[in-house]
Amino acid sequence: MGRPLAVDASRRPRSAAHHGAVYRLARAGGTWRLETRDATITADRVVVAAGAWSPSVVAGLGVRLPVQSARGCSLTSAGSGTPPRRAVKLLEAQVACSPVDGAVRLSGTFDLTRADARLSPRRLPAVLRAAQPYFREWQPDLTRGIAWSGLRPATPDGLPFVGPVPGHGGLFVATGHGTLGITLAPVTACAVRDMVIFDRLPDAFTACAVDRFERTRHR
Ligand SMILES: Cc1cc2nc3c(=O)[nH]c(=O)nc-3n(C[C@H](O)[C@H](O)[C@H](O)COP(=O)(O)OP(=O)(O)OC[C@H]3O[C@@H](n4cnc5c(N)ncnc54)[C@H](O)[C@@H]3O)c2cc1C
Repeated sequence: MGRPLAVDASRRPRSAAHHGAVYRLARAGGTWRLETRDATITADRVVVAAGAWSPSVVAGLGVRLPVQSARGCSLTSAGSGTPPRRAVKLLEAQVACSPVDGAVRLSGTFDLTRADARLSPRRLPAVLRAAQPYFREWQPDLTRGIAWSGLRPATPDGLPFVGPVPGHGGLFVATGHGTLGITLAPVTACAVRDMVIFDRLPDAFTACAVDRFERTRHR
């Protein structure tokens, strides 16, 4: 979701505007009202796509969204020696390795944590240590390169939540993509377009229903 994107579907071409983080989402007079620090936005339809923070956006409506933050970290470094030329997933080490513009990006860790928790300084060196035995001719350099960490929105069954929120007309969710949010962004965007504009969702997304855990809990 980034900052909320408000789209005026009545205009051609459709107009859009960005606003600050939503701190309150409520139903008011047949529409949705989103409150941000800078503005109050009203909308017929709202898609909550705030990654690991999505549960807090819908919690005020009594909607329980079991999305857990899973922190990952990454170093992109030219390193020294001959870098690997192909993307590889080091399965035993649980480290992804991707060549990027003459450098190599190593990513790892899946630390279940609070959304506001910081990265422990020991985690990135641990990723590099785990990867090192696989590279005889290349050494990453922790002191030079781009290090970052982020929160993956993880779900109990590894499938995302993409669909309408039952009992809350005009409210949709698209989150919980875990380790594959970038890969799955295009197909998710098409599904969001279909459900918001055309009121339909491809059959494949039935497994991604927002209330699937509620249904199994009450069986
Ligand atoms: C180290 C690392 C490496 C990764 N590598 C890959 C990879 O190679 N391939 C791949 O497919 N995936 C990868 N991922 C996973 C991918 O980054 C995530 O799945 C993806 O970012 C999830 O996208 P999202 O838009 O749902 O959530 P996010 O990217 O987390 O975006 C959510 C946005 O919502 C905003 N937000 C939060 N609260 C509010 C609010 N109240 N109001 C408005 N906005 C709000 C946040 O500021 C944020 O900008 C990686 C993740 C990590 C951590």
